[in-house]
Amino acid sequence: MFSNNFWHTVLKRPQHSKIYNIMRNIFLNILILQYIQLVSSKKSYRVDHHLNVLGNTEWETVPINLKGKSKLSTLYTNVKSIYNKSIGNPFNKYMSIGNHEYETADTPIQTVEEPVQSLTNNKLDNELVGLQGKDAFKIDFNCKIKNSDVCRKAENEFNRAANAISQVLMIYSGPILINATLISFCELAHSDGSACNADDPTRRKLGQAYPYSSFPAKAVYPEDGDTDSYLYPQALLRQLVIDSDFPDFQSYDITAEFNADVNWYFEEDENDRIDDDQHDFFYVATHELIHGLGFISSWRTLLDMPFEYLTPRAKVGVAKGENIIMGWYQMQIFDKYIQLNKTGSYLKEMGKKIMTYENSGEMIKQDTWLEGFHLSESGQVAQEVYDLATSGKNVFSIMSLDKDLITYLQTIKNKFVAGTCMGHIDNDEYTNKPDFLLRPYVPKGEDVDDLIEKGSFSYLSEEEKKQKDLWYKTAFGPHLLAILETIGWPTKHHPERRVVEVINAGISQQIINSWNIILIFIVSLYLILF
Ligand SMILES: [Zn+2]
Repeated sequence: MFSNNFWHTVLKRPQHSKIYNIMRNIFLNILILQYIQLVSSKKSYRVDHHLNVLGNTEWETVPINLKGKSKLSTLYTNVKSIYNKSIGNPFNKYMSIGNHEYETADTPIQTVEEPVQSLTNNKLDNELVGLQGKDAFKIDFNCKIKNSDVCRKAENEFNRAANAISQVLMIYSGPILINATLISFCELAHSDGSACNADDPTRRKLGQAYPYSSFPAKAVYPEDGDTDSYLYPQALLRQLVIDSDFPDFQSYDITAEFNADVNWYFEEDENDRIDDDQHDFFYVATHELIHGLGFISSWRTLLDMPFEYLTPRAKVGVAKGENIIMGWYQMQIFDKYIQLNKTGSYLKEMGKKIMTYENSGEMIKQDTWLEGFHLSESGQVAQEVYDLATSGKNVFSIMSLDKDLITYLQTIKNKFVAGTCMGHIDNDEYTNKPDFLLRPYVPKGEDVDDLIEKGSFSYLSEEEKKQKDLWYKTAFGPHLLAILETIGWPTKHHPERRVVEVINAGISQQIINSWNIILIFIVSLYLILF
């Protein structure tokens, strides 16, 4: 009916060359893809964790730009990688199992899948090592004290701790960047001297470490079928296969602070002995780094107030001088695996129920929000979790990937201590065991070597002994390794890398958005007509 001539007459369009039209169409296609990515990037965010010597870490939502790769550039990267592997240098594929650059963004999935495949076939092979030394961890050590000898010793011990970790974990994407500070906590935050009371261990923090940032991501085709999103600390996320655009990874993976007011023990040679009133710096550095790698829980008392509610973290903020709440952060990936020991049910289900309360992202005044929460079903569930967590010992546990090893998390009867409970393994259960490291309390007068020695005499179950060649005579016991594996850390026993998608990062999801459909329709129409 409508011939080309018809449109020519009606629209009186100018005549363009074929090449012009093709170029314009390509340009418009790129433009629309870029627009969609811009829209989708606004929905993506990361969580920055700020350490706070006075107590709680503060969480802050930061909008992120995903390293937007249009389909075209993905295509280009893939072609480039195939070229580099097969034509550019055919030996490349034999050379390295990991990606040595900090930015993993240009590594297409196929470069990592291939070596992992071969790694899995040679389990526990001696050649099975991830990145080591400076390729595995890089430490920016800021020493804020005058004694340069102590500074040097602390930095050495910190490097030793990082090296020890790279012996048991498979680090594919490195170096993991750590910003570590040795500073007087007394001077920094407790001018009243409350933190300087050396005899009161509850008041005196040894040190603390936290992921620098976490990113919400969801598993792609997970075995357990759970495709909800959880927060992945950056160091962990970098080890996984990211099946979406990459987030803007931050310049550090972990921040750590150590208290210079502690009487530290630094091992300089094997004959050194720790004094009774000293703390082993290596012990604390290793313990804290493990937290920074993802051994952290989101569960705490609601808004960190003395309520008898346990909840995941709420998004708090200030607007027009008033405290407001904007819904909830996703739970940390660690929390996905916590089970109620009695029933085997997952605590995350209670978490998700709690998070159904006011989770539209709207700003609500804190008082109004709280009033509603007290009356809500979510409030009831939060109370139940609190009751559980303070009911006694061995309430919460985490099961190993191979379903053969149960690890109990720290709980205390009639008391919940944020940062101590649930975010550590049970103190009593694992004292004098190979799993001493992630207990909540650090002993005085014993260094890691003493504790490894003590643990090696303890009774172990068959399951605990299973991968003895992996953990024996190290600071990392079978339970600790099992938990790290469970949350997704590749180890020598389980070197596989999980596939995740950083949420709101995919173009395909955004195309479903109705505005985008309209836009695509209009542009397509334009392209057909002109
Ligand atoms: Zn700890």
